[in-house]
Amino acid sequence: MKKFAVFFVLVFALPFFLVGCDAESESNSYVIVCEYDDESKTLYGSETVKFFNQSNNAIESLSFFLYPNSFAEGKKVVSDSYFDKAYVDGKVSYGNIEILSVKSGENLSFSVSEEGNILSCALNKEVFPNESVTVDIEFCVQLANINHRLGYGENTINFGNFYPILCVYENGFVENEFSTSGDPFYSTVANYDVTLTFDDDFVLAHSGNAVSESVSGGKKVVEIKGEKLRDFAFVLSKNFKKASAIIGEVVVNYFYHDDQDYEENLGVAVDAMNTFQNLFGEYPYEAVNVVQANFCFGGMEYPNLVLIADVVDDKETYKYVIVHELAHQWWYSLVGNNEFTEAWLDESLTEYSTFLFFEQNEKYGLEYEKMVEGALNSYQLFVNIYKDALGEVDESMARALPEFATEPEYVNNVYTKGVLMFDSVRKTVGDRKFFNCLKNYFKDYKFKIAKGGDLINSFSKTAKINLTSFFNAWLNGEVSVGG
Ligand SMILES: [Zn+2]
Repeated sequence: MKKFAVFFVLVFALPFFLVGCDAESESNSYVIVCEYDDESKTLYGSETVKFFNQSNNAIESLSFFLYPNSFAEGKKVVSDSYFDKAYVDGKVSYGNIEILSVKSGENLSFSVSEEGNILSCALNKEVFPNESVTVDIEFCVQLANINHRLGYGENTINFGNFYPILCVYENGFVENEFSTSGDPFYSTVANYDVTLTFDDDFVLAHSGNAVSESVSGGKKVVEIKGEKLRDFAFVLSKNFKKASAIIGEVVVNYFYHDDQDYEENLGVAVDAMNTFQNLFGEYPYEAVNVVQANFCFGGMEYPNLVLIADVVDDKETYKYVIVHELAHQWWYSLVGNNEFTEAWLDESLTEYSTFLFFEQNEKYGLEYEKMVEGALNSYQLFVNIYKDALGEVDESMARALPEFATEPEYVNNVYTKGVLMFDSVRKTVGDRKFFNCLKNYFKDYKFKIAKGGDLINSFSKTAKINLTSFFNAWLNGEVSVGG
């Protein structure tokens, strides 16, 4: 995501649930069938989720993250500084997800946590390592009238994080909390088969690839498939126009509802995809969709789909956001990480990748060294203001989202200081090694999950220098660049 700171089935021993143990073919999968009712702003859905146990433990229950409940009454989904951009006419609106049933051949008992963030399903039998279980979940999502990842605005209806998604299993399921700042998401890649039904006057932008489309009785039905996607999102709008370009094997689509500069912005997306493929590695999907949306922050990333906020009215900033969100296709989408506990891992690298884009594409008129200098000045301003106001400032980067006390503290430490950290790594190891570090990190963790330590080890291995203390000093706040 891009924000702007004030500164700047259990394997029922039933054979038909069991599948082979070919590790390559064994990944989680989702078959999702949804119908959107625009009158009630409700999405009725069902999903068949196959969980493959890649751990060494027997598993007795499954946990799913229920992001739509972060919009429920009593919850705060945006900090005060974004309130006016989020809520249409300043009116608070609520949404939620209701779990109607959970089955795995038979009904399973399930519960939703008090916070509403986690759905737990008790399996009637353990799932052993290298076995899988399939569960069917029926759900209903009520959308809030909000310019957010999930919700309806004036021009677009955004369906980000709309369905129950499996938590990542690490000796227990990692159950993230809701958070108003940052992206509280963490998931493995999975295969998706999604069938969406909606009024036929909507235009659809989505993750994955449409494999069939039909219209009858005023409804459009689209089936979409996607392999090795970390999530699935879609956006509907009655006002979308589409501009497209092809680079190599990848189609770049730009869906917009209000943009006179659409050709130029499509060009930015094309340049970004080309640059990042050259710098990091090939984009392995058929399409990427840049979607101008009603959104309160700068932008938001999903696999094959990024939201760019239509409220970003400065042309240069709009381009910057396109580049930043597309860099997330590599850092977050292809190389996954726990964005809740280690936001720096994707946001710092994504923000730094955005700087690299401008360094590589001189026609945009931004000089790399001046951008780094600007980041340093901005960070120092933040530190000085906070020191004046509070007497001290926490300069550590490696914190979970709720551990950042304020929005500026999060943005400045994770984005701005992140850029300074990667610039410093580059200047320490030299350009040739640094760019190889990026390529090797991508190659080794593509479709997987990386932890902070994995990035540090990977960079150390490629650079042939032990960078552990170097990185840790930055991440822990020992390196003070506040001046
Ligand atoms: Zn971001």
